[in-house]
Amino acid sequence: MKTQVKALVVGGGAVGTSIAYHLAKAGWDDVMLLERDELTSGSTWHAAGLLPLFNMSFATTHIHKYSVDFYKSLEAETGLNAGFAVVGNLRMAQTQDRMDEFMLYASTAETCDVPYVWMTPDQIRAKWPLINTDDLKGALYHHTDGYINPADVTQAMAKGARQRGVEIVRKWQADAFHWNGTHWDVTATRMVEKGGNLVPSEEQIVITAEHVVTASGNHAQTTAKKLGIKIPAIPVEHQFIVMDQDPALVQFRADGHVEHPVIRDADAQSYVREERGGWILGVYEKNAPACFEYGVPDSFRADLFPLDLERIEDQYMAMIHRIPSCENSGLKDDFNGPICYTPDGNPLVGPAPGLRNMWLAEGFSFGITAAGGTGYYLAQMMVDGEAEIDMASLDPKRYGNWMTTEFAARKNEECYDHVYILHHPDEERPACRPLRTSPAYDRQAARGAQFGFVNGWERPNYYAPAGFNDHDSRSFRRGGWWQYAVEEAKAIREGVGLIDATAFTKHRITGAGATAFLDWFTTNKLPRIGRINLTYALTAHGTTRTEYTIVRNGENDYYLVSAGAWTAYDQDYLIKAIEDMEPTFGRINAQDVTTQWGVFAIAGPKSRDVLAAVIKDADPATALSNKRFPWLSAQKIELGMCPVNAIRVAYTGELGWELHHPIEMQNYLFDLLEKAGAAHGMKLVGARAQNWLRQEKSYRAFGNELGRDATPLEADLPRFVDLSKDFHGKDAMLAKGIRSTCVTLLIDGPDDADPWGREALYHGDTRVGRLTSGGYSVAFGKSIGMGYVKPELAVVGTQLQVKMLDKLWPAVIVEDSPYDPQNAKIRIDG
Ligand SMILES: Cc1cc2nc3c(=O)[nH]c(=O)nc-3n(C[C@H](O)[C@H](O)[C@H](O)COP(=O)(O)OP(=O)(O)OC[C@H]3O[C@@H](n4cnc5c(N)ncnc54)[C@H](O)[C@@H]3O)c2cc1C
Repeated sequence: MKTQVKALVVGGGAVGTSIAYHLAKAGWDDVMLLERDELTSGSTWHAAGLLPLFNMSFATTHIHKYSVDFYKSLEAETGLNAGFAVVGNLRMAQTQDRMDEFMLYASTAETCDVPYVWMTPDQIRAKWPLINTDDLKGALYHHTDGYINPADVTQAMAKGARQRGVEIVRKWQADAFHWNGTHWDVTATRMVEKGGNLVPSEEQIVITAEHVVTASGNHAQTTAKKLGIKIPAIPVEHQFIVMDQDPALVQFRADGHVEHPVIRDADAQSYVREERGGWILGVYEKNAPACFEYGVPDSFRADLFPLDLERIEDQYMAMIHRIPSCENSGLKDDFNGPICYTPDGNPLVGPAPGLRNMWLAEGFSFGITAAGGTGYYLAQMMVDGEAEIDMASLDPKRYGNWMTTEFAARKNEECYDHVYILHHPDEERPACRPLRTSPAYDRQAARGAQFGFVNGWERPNYYAPAGFNDHDSRSFRRGGWWQYAVEEAKAIREGVGLIDATAFTKHRITGAGATAFLDWFTTNKLPRIGRINLTYALTAHGTTRTEYTIVRNGENDYYLVSAGAWTAYDQDYLIKAIEDMEPTFGRINAQDVTTQWGVFAIAGPKSRDVLAAVIKDADPATALSNKRFPWLSAQKIELGMCPVNAIRVAYTGELGWELHHPIEMQNYLFDLLEKAGAAHGMKLVGARAQNWLRQEKSYRAFGNELGRDATPLEADLPRFVDLSKDFHGKDAMLAKGIRSTCVTLLIDGPDDADPWGREALYHGDTRVGRLTSGGYSVAFGKSIGMGYVKPELAVVGTQLQVKMLDKLWPAVIVEDSPYDPQNAKIRIDG
C-alpha cells in the first residue's frame, strides 16, 4: 500500500470509483482509492440503476449525458458487462401543465444534444398495451438511456481504473486530514469486523497526498466534521419494491416484444421498470425522513431500513391504475435505503470551502447516473484547473456558513418530496423559511411581498394584493404574478420604484497592497477615489469567475459588491487569491460585510425627487445633480438620520442610486423613503421586474450570461476589460478567442408565455445556441432574452428562432441595450 500519492480518493461507491478512473485517464498516474468497507457497500449496491439522461440543469444534463455514453463504452475497455439495458425512458404527463414542463425540458435537452421524441396516448397504447393511457395527455420519450446494474458498473470502472494504475485499497478508513502547506497528511485506520459491525482497529498509517477527493456518500456528515467544514449532504430514506411476475408481462415478452422503457409517472410520483417478468416500483413519497444527520452508526453497513408500505400506498395504487395487469402480483422484495440529498437536489462537486487541494463529490441522489460525468468533469477541474462546462451550480460553496444540520435535513426531505412536483421555473420552495431576513422583511410582507429564496435570504420577487396565492399562480407560461411584475417594471420606467437588494455580497478590501492586488485580480481599470467600476475576476482559464461592482473609498480602500447568491463562492476565491499573492502584494484584508449593510436600490425618472426630499445637505436642490453626484460615482450622504453610502448606478437602466445603509437602520430608512416616495407614486418593486428591466439594457447577470464557460470578451463586454494592463487570466482569455458571443434578442413569442432563459436558439433548421436569460420587455411590449450564438451570427438584425412550447418563434438580434442605448435616461440631470 502506497503512502505517498498524487491524489487520494476517499470512498469506493460509484462516484469515487469513477473519479479515480477519470483522474488516471486524465494522466495522473499516482492515484489511490480508499474504501472503509467493500466497493459499492454504500448506497451504490441497492440503487435501482436507472439512468435518467435528462435533468433541468444544464451542467447536470451534461454530466448525465457523459455517463450514459461512457457506460456504453466500458465493456469494450474492461471486458466487464455492466448490464446496461438501453430500454429508453418514457416520461408521461397527466396534465397540460406537465406537458408544458416537458416542452421546457425538451428545449433545454436540445441545447445539450439529448435526443427525444413526443408520443401521444394512442402511440403509447399501440406500442405498450399494458400501460393504461386513459388519463394521459402525452409523453416525452428519451430512447437512448435506460438502466444499469450499479454494482457491476462500479466494478467495471474499478477494473478500468486498476488497468490505468489506480491502487484500490479496501477496509481502510480515512480518519484525519492535515494540510501541511503543500500536501495532505491523511491518517487512515484499518477497519475490522467485530460482531457484524465494522470498527476501527489500532492499525493506522499516514498517506501523503497532493490532492484529496471525498466521495463518502452517506458518511458526508462525518467527513464534514473531520475536515472542519460544512457539507449540506444528508440522506433521506428512499424505497422501491420488486413485484412477483406479472403473467400479462411475461406473455407480452414471450410474444417477442422488447422490454418496456423505464416508465415515469411524475404525476403519481413514481417510476416503474421491468425486472424478470415482474415490475419494480420506485417512489418519491411524502414524509420520507432524513437519516444519519450526525453520522452513520457502525452497525449500519450494506444495510437497509424496514419497508414502510403505508407511506407509499398512494403510489402503489397509482401503479395498479397505470399497469392494471400487476394488480395480483405479490411483493417479492423491497429496498428502503439511504439516498443522499442536498437542499437544492444538486450534488456538491468542486473545491472544498476554505481548504487547499481538497475536493468534494458529495450529496448524490442520482449518483449512478451522475458518477461517470462527475468523474470526467471533476478530473478536468483537478488536472486542468477548470472543467469545460460551468460547474458553479454544483459548487460546494453555494451554501454559506449560515447553513446548519437542521436546515440541511429539513430541506433535503423537502427536496426528496419535490422530485416529481411540477418544476415551474418560478417555483419557490417553502421549507425552512423565513430564515435570513433583512429588517424590512415584515414591512415588505405587510405590503404584499412574495418572497424568493436567495442563498438563504428572503428577497421580494414581486408585490401582490392581499389574499394572492403565489403557489397557485405558478406556471410554465405567464404566471398569475406576471401582471404585477409588469406594473412594477413600468413604475421604474415611468416613475420610481424601490428594490431591496440587501442580499448582495459585499466585501471590504484594505491594506497597502490592495490597489495593486485588485488591479491584478480584475479586468477593468480600477476606479478613481469616489468612483465605481464594473469589473470581472477571471479563472486561470480566462473565463468569468465573479462580477464585481468596485467602489473606491480611498487610496487602498475598496468596497466590492457581487451577486447575493454567491457569497461563499466569491469569498473563497478572493481570500485564496489574496493568500496566494501575499508574497507579491503583501498582506491585504478582506472583510465580508454582507450582513452589516442593507441595500435599497431606488430607480426611475422620479428617484432624484424622492431622495431630494429627505437628503440632509446644505443645498439639497443640487446635492444629487450630475455636477455634484455624477453617474458612476459614490458618496456618503445622509438621508434623514441615516448615514448612507450612495452609489449612482441602477441595474434597471434608469436614473437611480443604490443606498447602502447600516442594517440596523433599515426600517428607519424604509419608512423615510416610503413616506417621501408616496408623493411621487413610488412602488415597491421585486426581483422579477428588475430581471426583465436589466435585459432591456443587456446587462449580463452572473450565473446566466456570466460564468466559467465564457470569457468577458465572449460575453461581449470588452469595455470592462482593460487590455493595456496585465491581469489574472488575461493570456488564457485571449487564447480562447471568441467561441460564441452573447447577444440580446427581441422575441415574437406566444401570447401567453415568455422564455425562461433555457431555450434552444435556431437559425433556420440549425440549432445555433441557447438562451441564458428570458422575460418580458415592458418597453417593447414583447418577450426579450439574452443568449449565446456562434460569433458569425452575432450581428444586429440576424433573424433567429426560439424554441418555446415545442414551436419555433421568431427572434431578432438587436443592438446591445435596446432600451436607451445612449444611456441618456441614466445620465439625466436634475
Ligand atoms: C433505494 C434507492 C434507489 C436508488 N436508485 C437510483 C437510481 O435508479 N439511479 C441513480 O442514479 N441513483 C439511484 N440511487 C442513488 C444512488 O444509490 C446514490 O446516489 C449513489 O449510490 C451514490 O454513490 P456514492 O459513490 O456517492 O456513495 P456511496 O455508494 O454511498 O459510496 C460512498 C462510499 O464511501 C465509503 N466511505 C465513506 N467514508 C469513508 C472514509 N472516511 N474512508 C473510506 N471510505 C469511506 C463508504 O463506505 C461507501 O462505500 C438510489 C438510492 C436508493 C437508496
